[in-house]
Amino acid sequence: MEKLSDDLLFQKLNNVEENYKYIEEKIAEAAVKSGRQRKDITFLAATKTVQPAVINHAISLGLRYIGENRVQELLSKYDEYDLNNAQLQFIGRLQTNKVRQIIDKVSLIQSVDSAKLAGEISRRAIENGIVMDVLVEVNVGQEESKSGVQIEMLDELIGEISEMKGISVKGLMAIPPICETSQEIVKYFEKMHKLFIDISTKKTDNVSMNILSMGMSDDYSEAIMCGANMVRVGSALFGKRDYTK
Ligand SMILES: *Cc1c(COP(=O)(O)O)cnc(C)c1O
Repeated sequence: MEKLSDDLLFQKLNNVEENYKYIEEKIAEAAVKSGRQRKDITFLAATKTVQPAVINHAISLGLRYIGENRVQELLSKYDEYDLNNAQLQFIGRLQTNKVRQIIDKVSLIQSVDSAKLAGEISRRAIENGIVMDVLVEVNVGQEESKSGVQIEMLDELIGEISEMKGISVKGLMAIPPICETSQEIVKYFEKMHKLFIDISTKKTDNVSMNILSMGMSDDYSEAIMCGANMVRVGSALFGKRDYTK
């Protein structure tokens, strides 16, 4: 990752500060509109392609959760994150053979979508003497190319994970399809909220539905209105991503 020039970095930090305050206000507004309070919603910043200096600036403003979605990138930035003041989570597609590399570095893996992956997390967590908290990622739009478990298989997968040691299901995560209108995306958010409620009603051992992670830069307010209590925001905070660097 290239270092930003001093001028560019200064400009960038100012923008992040402005964006951070704006998003905080929007989250608070949606929380109240949906009958909750600001403190009931977790603001996680999706930090892919973002320089650690910029991430740490957001942490200095009050950000408490960051999420990476590539193992390689997480490892290369790991020593620079200010993890005394924020928790690092994994939010991307995770290959079984890479679990070992992050198991002792993240506080939550949001993207578990198969028993095979859960089994490997369980094995590595036991090795490390920890219990890893996870979310089950749901392919709510039934898209072929997308990660996430199919809705019909969700109960079965949660049942299987609940029997595993070293891993604990804390909720659900989704990345809905790209939608033209907010009415369209709201349907997916509502569907997720219904699944979330249905599963919590079942009260399975070792499974809690504390976290419903959905909503990104373009739709986090809508997601909160539909019951999300964690949003994952990237470009609205850090600006448009530059994948060329
Ligand atoms: C990048 C990313 C986000 C944030 O996307 P933005 O549209 O930039 O807010 C959220 N969730 C996951 C899993 C991501 O990879």
